[in-house]
Amino acid sequence: MAITIVDNNERIISWNKYTEGLLNMNEKELFMRPVESLYPPDEWKKIRAENVRQKGMKYRLETKLVRKYQGFFDAELSLCVLKDNTENIVGSIGIIKDITKLKKTEKKLKESEEKFRRFYENAPVPYHTLSPYGFITDVNEKWCQILGYSKKEAIGKTIFDFIVEEERESAKLSFKDKISSKKFYVEGHERKFLTKASEERTFMINDFLSYDESNNVNSIYTIIEDITGCKKTEKEYHEKLEILNEKLEKKVQERTAEIKQLLEQKDEFINQLGHDLKTPLTPLVSLLPILEKTEGDPKSKEILEVLVRNVNYIKNLVIKTIELARLNKDSTVFDLKDLNLWEEADNAVQDQKYRWDEKGLKVKNKINENIFVKADKLQLDELFYNLINNAVKYTTYGGNITIDAHSDGDFVTVSIMDSGIGINDEQIKYVFNEFYKADHSRHDFSSVGLGLSICKRIVEKHRGKIWVESPGIGKGSTFYFTLKMSKNRGLINNQ
Ligand code: ADP
Repeated sequence: MAITIVDNNERIISWNKYTEGLLNMNEKELFMRPVESLYPPDEWKKIRAENVRQKGMKYRLETKLVRKYQGFFDAELSLCVLKDNTENIVGSIGIIKDITKLKKTEKKLKESEEKFRRFYENAPVPYHTLSPYGFITDVNEKWCQILGYSKKEAIGKTIFDFIVEEERESAKLSFKDKISSKKFYVEGHERKFLTKASEERTFMINDFLSYDESNNVNSIYTIIEDITGCKKTEKEYHEKLEILNEKLEKKVQERTAEIKQLLEQKDEFINQLGHDLKTPLTPLVSLLPILEKTEGDPKSKEILEVLVRNVNYIKNLVIKTIELARLNKDSTVFDLKDLNLWEEADNAVQDQKYRWDEKGLKVKNKINENIFVKADKLQLDELFYNLINNAVKYTTYGGNITIDAHSDGDFVTVSIMDSGIGINDEQIKYVFNEFYKADHSRHDFSSVGLGLSICKRIVEKHRGKIWVESPGIGKGSTFYFTLKMSKNRGLINNQ
């Protein structure tokens, strides 16, 4: 702080060191210097006038002072007259403060405030400013345009006065939350406002909160985006979409019914065809082997052998086709019982013992003997039979077949793993399709390509799933299916 003392003739008679630095003058230059020379002429006039007005009282003002070689700088001056014992004025004392930096900051602040005001006022979107109690302290031109109120009408009211009645209470609650959120920005939310012309408009509200030094909200700046148009379009769009969905749903239902009917017709046709073929096949299947046995001529015997094989193939095909058609029917119901899984698998293994023995296969049934499932006995037997039959068929001499199961909650997953010829990823997609044979070179007369389709229907009718996994050709395959665990017996502990 610079301190200078001036005599009655307004000449500097005393000062401190700081004054020399501030004014960039030495002792010689300062002593007895007319104080007037330190001010720009206008400022000096101002000071004189103020001196007269204050009548010797203490006062403070902002002015400009000279700094040698450097022009004028902004200064704050505190002045006080000095009196002697007899109350005569003998001079004055001045305290000078350099406020250049302060002035610069003030200027910048003013500029940015001005910029903000201009932006706020002319922004193409509606704005309002609220006090922490929800009172409107400012609105911009666009706000007035959209809501139809003048600034005068809006300022001083609460924002809730402009919100539709049914949303007013919830708006008050969310406002309170906003104030206590300590957030700077509260994400957009929708609110319905009422214009002066009583028109309802939907706005997207975006709040920016400003805080004072004690971290209390002092203002809320809100941008409101009129989305009434979008809302209307959105509503219309939804209505249209709903109508379209209804139409589509109806069409899908019609098509599904048509497809269902066609599938039923197909099943009925296959069923009929199967039964019609079965009748003339019966004498062929029973008589041809007798003829083959009694035939003495080797050439004719050979022909008869081929006939027997083909007739058996047709019989097999007919039986499986009829079975599949039966399973496809909605009316086919299963007789669900609590069955011991190990036992059912073992029956199928033993039934085919002669076949796997012949191929030198090792078959292991590792199923826990205490697992019970809810299933139709005949269908479960057929399922195991088909899958084990395939495992035997597609596993080469000396291979392994392992049957296992594990339960997870309500379901049991059964696996039939073989070390056979395996299936590639492409074939895996189709193996459960009707009449699909992965590779024709694999097939003999017992393969008609319906076994897995039948298995799939059986499992699905039990509300389970069936699938196959294989590491690739030559690396074996594992078929899995799930069945519901028996509720009464489930997995019985050994104790
Ligand atoms: P198929 O009567 O021909 O055995 P399936 O419906 O039972 O008819 O099987 C369809 C095809 O899936 C078979 O032709 C075979 O190529 C393939 N497949 C089925 N089981 C196995 C298996 N365990 N290992 C390798 N391929 C198999």
